[in-house]
Amino acid sequence: MSRVALVTGGSRGIGAAISTALKNAGYKVAANYAGNDEAAAAFTKETGIPTYKWNVADYEASKAGIAKVEADLGPIEVVVANAGITRDAPFHKMSPEQWQQVIDTNLTGVFNTIHPVWPGMRERKFGRVIVISSVNGQKGQFAQVNYAATKAGDIGIVRSLAQEGARAGITANAVCPGYIATEMVMAVPEKVRESIIAQIPAGRLGEPEEIARCVAFLASDDAQFINGSTISANGAQFFG
Ligand code: NDP
Repeated sequence: MSRVALVTGGSRGIGAAISTALKNAGYKVAANYAGNDEAAAAFTKETGIPTYKWNVADYEASKAGIAKVEADLGPIEVVVANAGITRDAPFHKMSPEQWQQVIDTNLTGVFNTIHPVWPGMRERKFGRVIVISSVNGQKGQFAQVNYAATKAGDIGIVRSLAQEGARAGITANAVCPGYIATEMVMAVPEKVRESIIAQIPAGRLGEPEEIARCVAFLASDDAQFINGSTISANGAQFFG
């Protein structure tokens, strides 16, 4: 029987590539999204992967959304906490709202995504938790105090969950992408983007599929003994 996988933010960008890679590997995939109905509908039309709308920053909405996915597809065995946002500003200009929005989505959202599926994984003695962190959580980044805090937090989350889940057959790992060609990065002014690319020894942005392949590997049976790790996929930009 094919396993059920949930990908938050799974309708666009890196998440869409992850949803597609898992579907191609034989999983029954549910892709969550926040509010872009048009992109979600186009994604479902193109891939046949069902999309489910809820805000990962909202615990009750996450619980209800996950219950709906499980009613439709079966118990979630692979959860990919991928949804994330940026609200960049140098620290002296960063508002409390910019701080809080990023914490709520990128960090509390990861808790809200994993917490409802964790008891079922423990009972069934199998689970794969994969969190999409970032190179900027490893090294820090100008104007991203909020974002870097959440992405460093992701690494703490998986290292702790790995210790709690190991005896129950659950692994928890993070993937730290470098700069990947998605709308998030393409929204950065071209000049800034060029200066970013100049810092990447590979001389290019990564492709969403290059992150998706890391996730598919971590989800597979071959990765059972990899637990609490981070895979860095960043074109040699940083060795974390
Ligand atoms: P995109 O902006 O391209 O896509 C974001 C996805 O997340 C969309 O599906 C969006 O839904 C969803 N989303 C955003 N907020 C919420 C929310 N509150 N609840 C539910 N879903 C939400 O992002 P990327 O693909 O670029 O990034 C994906 C992940 O990878 C993020 O965690 C990001 O931090 C991380 N990352 C990205 C890098 C990059 O270079 N792109 C580098 C390193 C890490 P909707 O379509 O409805 O808006």
